[in-house]
Amino acid sequence: MNELTDWQFRDARTVWHPYTQQQDWLSDNPLVIERAEGVWLTDVSGRRYLDACGSLWVTTYQHADPRLKAAVSRQLEALDHSTFFGATHTPGIRLAERLVELAPSGEGDDRRLTRVFFGSDGASVVDAALKLAYQFSVQSGRPRDLILHLENSFHGDSIAASSIMGGRQSQSTYGPLLLNTHRTTSPAPADGLDPAQAAARALDDLERVLADCHQRCCALIVEAMIQAAGGMLPYHPSFLQGCRELADRYGFLLICDEIAAGVARTGQMWATEHAGIVPDIMLCGKGLTGGVLPMSALLTGDHVADAFTSPDTTKTFFHGHTYAANPLACAVALENLAMAEELDLPAVARAKGAVLGALLEPLAKHRAVRDVRRLGVMTGIELAASLPRAGFRVCAAAQERGVWMRSLGDVLVIMPPLAITEEELAQLTAVVEASLEDVFGG
Ligand SMILES: *Cc1c(COP(=O)(O)O)cnc(C)c1O
Repeated sequence: MNELTDWQFRDARTVWHPYTQQQDWLSDNPLVIERAEGVWLTDVSGRRYLDACGSLWVTTYQHADPRLKAAVSRQLEALDHSTFFGATHTPGIRLAERLVELAPSGEGDDRRLTRVFFGSDGASVVDAALKLAYQFSVQSGRPRDLILHLENSFHGDSIAASSIMGGRQSQSTYGPLLLNTHRTTSPAPADGLDPAQAAARALDDLERVLADCHQRCCALIVEAMIQAAGGMLPYHPSFLQGCRELADRYGFLLICDEIAAGVARTGQMWATEHAGIVPDIMLCGKGLTGGVLPMSALLTGDHVADAFTSPDTTKTFFHGHTYAANPLACAVALENLAMAEELDLPAVARAKGAVLGALLEPLAKHRAVRDVRRLGVMTGIELAASLPRAGFRVCAAAQERGVWMRSLGDVLVIMPPLAITEEELAQLTAVVEASLEDVFGG
């Protein structure tokens, strides 16, 4: 037995993987990764794979970045972990200050995101945001328990986050456990509508829903500018502007989930900046530490936080995660944000995204491709799926050719680390094209 298959067998005996039917696991020939550097992953048998999805959207710039590694080592010498419950620490304070400085500020909107609550992964701050929005409504004297979300949305896999998932398997499987929420139309282009029309239709539908239920609605949660796990579906910024206006008109909180799109990859530091609005609550996660350590953060403004500051202890926000604001994660997030500024990563995402877009242009005409969509480097290639598991099969073919990709159903996802060179982008798109031929025939 070679080394790879030995590790695969050991894995299959003991490990249970996320979103994985273990029955098929071994026959799907999973990669067993041992090292990573730049945009390349290396498996236990020494084969290299281009990491086309930034290790599921976390690797902002590159693997094994010397600055990020040095930041973790320095912090490890000083302080490994110390709790945020009842005490604080310097890397946590610094990171909160930095996030507030970097937070979006809209023109003509004096709302500012001035307060940071740390979580440990994306779903933990999604839960925090929903509890916060509900409690805010109660403490502002207008108790409201309904949360609105969008079709095609994804906000994580906790029970609360599963309750605001836009119509996927887990909603039917876990239905009886979920919160009472209401789903409204996605602003992503569909049914022959262009982006502006699709955004207008979604806003009309949202307004109609609100006409019925605005007195019960405490929050609307949306993925900023692109519905990522729903199939890489970018939408028109007028939708976010309309949501901002409706939130102000009806007095609910607008929560922008930037967990996938935040930190440069859409071509702006925060995706909401494409729309020039300031949400009431902003969530970030995935790319915050550049892909080194799990960490997430919730940002909100004084207009929300003030309702929690009171001599009445029942007005406390009763939420917290043990590893929140882990000092190593804070230190590496600070360094990652410094890199984002110094290397102007939003501009890098715009430039590399444009190169990727040009390289993919011929593919858009491929008979097996229905649509190619992109915002910055966040890219989806929707297959005209005439085969079962078409997305998976193209990814498996790409793996044979040295590219690691993951599909969302029939959508191939490309979201490379921003250090990828133009040469590597060309290599990547050539492999995607060859893999389509492998699966759909020449
Ligand atoms: C991945 C994701 C989450 C959940 O983050 P986890 O760290 O997996 O809990 C939430 N929202 C969006 C938009 C995401 O893409």
